[in-house]
Amino acid sequence: MNMDAAAVLTLFRHNEGLLEGHFELSSGLHSAGYLQCARILQFPDYAEQLGQALATRLANLKPTLVLSPALGGVVLGHEVARALGVRALFAERREGKLTLRRGFQVTPDDRVLVVEDVVTTGLSTRETIGVATACGGSVVAAASLIDRGDSPADFDLPFVSLARFPLPTYEPSDCPICARGEVAIKPGSRSLGR
Ligand code: ZN
Repeated sequence: MNMDAAAVLTLFRHNEGLLEGHFELSSGLHSAGYLQCARILQFPDYAEQLGQALATRLANLKPTLVLSPALGGVVLGHEVARALGVRALFAERREGKLTLRRGFQVTPDDRVLVVEDVVTTGLSTRETIGVATACGGSVVAAASLIDRGDSPADFDLPFVSLARFPLPTYEPSDCPICARGEVAIKPGSRSLGR
């Protein structure tokens, strides 16, 4: 399958990867749409194809490793790294702070590609970029399956997403769905999607 933006969105729709309703995202913001990447990435074939599609668009930057935030970015990051023939590393939250997983190493010679499943506010990707630079690595690009932000993500770096699918988010105090008296539900942990 040619994983262009239309194909990616079709994949999400056909696998219940896109929920519609009233949701409280992990950021605390509210939205009428919720992406569950796990619905797609649970199929290794899809994960592999999506990883290859991102790798194809990023190989020219010659990354030496892929770094992803746990848990959401781990499976996709692994597949991008496999397609590029480089290492797959991840950062995990310890005492509230995103930290390189013990045993992984990023050196000043490394060209780091940061891979996330979904970018909403970009906070998690920014934190992951911070982890790589704190280790001395240089970050050559960031990438995600879907950029769902109100405006296109901007990290002061090359950024690639397979599909851009804006799903507006609201502060709870400003949420038009709350204003109708509907209660927002928390669809799950960060690991399930954003
Ligand atoms: Zn709301």
